[in-house]
Amino acid sequence: MIAALLLGTAIAKAQTLTLPPEVQKAYDNGTRSLNGKPGKKYWENHGRYTISVSMAPPSKTITGVEQITYFNNSPDALKQLNMKLIVNVHRAAGRGGVPANPALGVTVDDIQINGKKAAWDNNVAITTNQMVDLDKPLMPRDSLKMNITWHYQLANGRGRDGAIDSTTYYLAYFYPRVSVYDDYKGWDTQPHTGSLEFYNDFNDYTLNVTVPKNYIVWATGDLRNPKQVLQPEALKRYQASLTGDSTVHIATPQDLAAKNITTQNASNTWTFTSRNITDVALAVSDHYDWDAASVLVDDKANRRTSVQAAFPDASEDFHHSVQFSRYALGWFSHNWPGVPYPFSKSTAVQGFADMEYPMMVNDSHEKDLVFAELVQDHEQAHTYFPFYMGINESRYAFMDEGWATTLEYLIGITEKGQKAADDFYKQFRVTRWIHAKHDQEQPVITPSPDVTRAGGGGDNAYGKPSLSYLALKDMLGDDLFKKALHNYMDNWNGKHPIPWDYFNSMSSGSGKDLNWFFYNWFFTPSYIDLALENVTKDGSTYKLDIKNIGGFAIPFNVVATYADGSTESFHQTPIVWKADQKQINITVKPSKEVKSFTLDGGIFMDANEADNTWSAK
Ligand SMILES: [Zn+2]
Repeated sequence: MIAALLLGTAIAKAQTLTLPPEVQKAYDNGTRSLNGKPGKKYWENHGRYTISVSMAPPSKTITGVEQITYFNNSPDALKQLNMKLIVNVHRAAGRGGVPANPALGVTVDDIQINGKKAAWDNNVAITTNQMVDLDKPLMPRDSLKMNITWHYQLANGRGRDGAIDSTTYYLAYFYPRVSVYDDYKGWDTQPHTGSLEFYNDFNDYTLNVTVPKNYIVWATGDLRNPKQVLQPEALKRYQASLTGDSTVHIATPQDLAAKNITTQNASNTWTFTSRNITDVALAVSDHYDWDAASVLVDDKANRRTSVQAAFPDASEDFHHSVQFSRYALGWFSHNWPGVPYPFSKSTAVQGFADMEYPMMVNDSHEKDLVFAELVQDHEQAHTYFPFYMGINESRYAFMDEGWATTLEYLIGITEKGQKAADDFYKQFRVTRWIHAKHDQEQPVITPSPDVTRAGGGGDNAYGKPSLSYLALKDMLGDDLFKKALHNYMDNWNGKHPIPWDYFNSMSSGSGKDLNWFFYNWFFTPSYIDLALENVTKDGSTYKLDIKNIGGFAIPFNVVATYADGSTESFHQTPIVWKADQKQINITVKPSKEVKSFTLDGGIFMDANEADNTWSAK
């Protein structure tokens, strides 16, 4: 890696991006192409899942009956299937303080492939992957059927899934699934250890959730049988929420106490369906409030999205959740990324995860409403990256977190103003990184599991890539940046883009060769530190010699302070670094005699501001 980088710097004049052999192979095979589009031979595999889960809180036993039809669209004969069992993560110490418990994790009671019992050892399946041998290979363009029955104990604790309280459960990553088999790495066998995220195929789901009466179920997908599971008045409120802007209180504490929400059968089965989606999650509770409304997300199609919230009545912030979501989904659809929210629904559930799931958000209770809205905005923004785009988050976290961080900032400007949004972004996304040591900085392209610098994973996933996206927006201008971004999103929506697909799509979408910029931001161990070395005056023109010590190609302002105390800013986009990313000179023509110049990067915070100012003698 280091050798390649040094060589790369030497030939920076005609920049090409470093290509790992497996990516080069994808181009050679025609599954991806250098214009950023999927190649003519691009393929991805697909599954149809019917999952029926049952539970009766406070028992934590979750039982599942699952059918998978798995389609092999690859050109390869598959001799094995790699199964993902993410809940097995709780057998080791999990995220959010979930204690280690070897008894947790999925027990497969029976697994049949095409009607024949398959070999499965629950004692072997202690990790989050298990390879299953196939009797005969699954040939290209063929499919197979799996029938699996399983059960597991829901974990306690404040993790991404588990028991939120004794009768409120959040199920996520809970069912055995076929892992991604892709064109450039084959089976995704990256173990899940609790911190890295996920990589999933686009599948179709039918999800049946059986719970005792008076339990409400919220889940990914459209509720198919509201008439069956809701009493008439609750049904009326639910249906009204699908077309109205105002928050409808479908279930209040009074309703729940009076038991007048769900049908009074011993148990109810709630059915949800969703298509072409990367995962399903669900929540159940017998005492959470249920609010809902809807928002117009697609003007052309006149399409509304249902926004719902499930929360304990005491959580003040969640009483605002539905309207926060209405604003966020409307804004994302119409502004940045400016793509209509792709799903029919979004439900925010109060748990502890601060985590996104397709059509679902699980957020903590926050006392500060401004912060509560920001966290929810962030998780909603993930709808686009990774869910609309099918990103491998466990390998390239910057492809989703960097965008969620960027969208959270952009929507934040409209919610609380430029200064407050800048201050927040600096405080939470930049300060810690920029004021750390930079002697072990790793390039953003470094696969997430290989980032070894303490804290570097977070910096490489959130702040640094977000700054790169904002720097590119500054350089191209909003219109061209959006055109390029939409080119990337159109090329890869519903597919599995890798970083090179992003780079190439942005170059072809903008009509500019941006490789020098992407090389700078993603393939070098840079940070941000400019120095204003010298200023010379020639008539009314000033020439500023600027050294780029940190290396990143950032936008910045040259701020001139005049003798009368007034200031004038001369904005420089990152294009100033195109020819030379180490040393440049800038000329400015101020309107008055200058007392001092300062280089100000704004949210592109400088590691050492002491050398950013020059004063006239
Ligand atoms: Zn995130």
